[in-house]
Amino acid sequence: MPKISRYFNREDFACQCGCGVGNIAWDLVHKLELLRREVGAIIVTSGCRCRTHNDKVGGGDYSLHLSGDAADIYCPCRNLFELFVIATRYFEGVGLYPLRNIIHVDLRERHYWFITTEEEYEVLNSKWFVDQLT
Ligand SMILES: [Zn+2]
Ligand SMILES: [Zn+2]
Repeated sequence: MPKISRYFNREDFACQCGCGVGNIAWDLVHKLELLRREVGAIIVTSGCRCRTHNDKVGGGDYSLHLSGDAADIYCPCRNLFELFVIATRYFEGVGLYPLRNIIHVDLRERHYWFITTEEEYEVLNSKWFVDQLT
């Protein structure tokens, strides 16, 4: 598999429907590399998505997965909440999806952190939130 960085292959970010869409943003991969160095291992469950696949998995109309500016990940050796907190040091767009056991990271600027249990969605646009934890 062609590597695109030390820890990631292009395939890791390709649309899961097999359509071949895989234009992942380099900045995203770079930030994931930094995160990977700290947390030890990262599994990408969703990177780029074509429109059809995005609709199928319930992605928003303006999902950043469509432009290759987002990834959903988990870490086999870290608690999800811990991964979420660590990710906020590297990404300004970070979401916690406890029911799906993933976090979402994207290239949005200005802190946009959120937790969703699908029915309830809480936006935590504040460094205060993480300061309380660390
Ligand atoms: Zn696709
Ligand atoms: Zn996502």
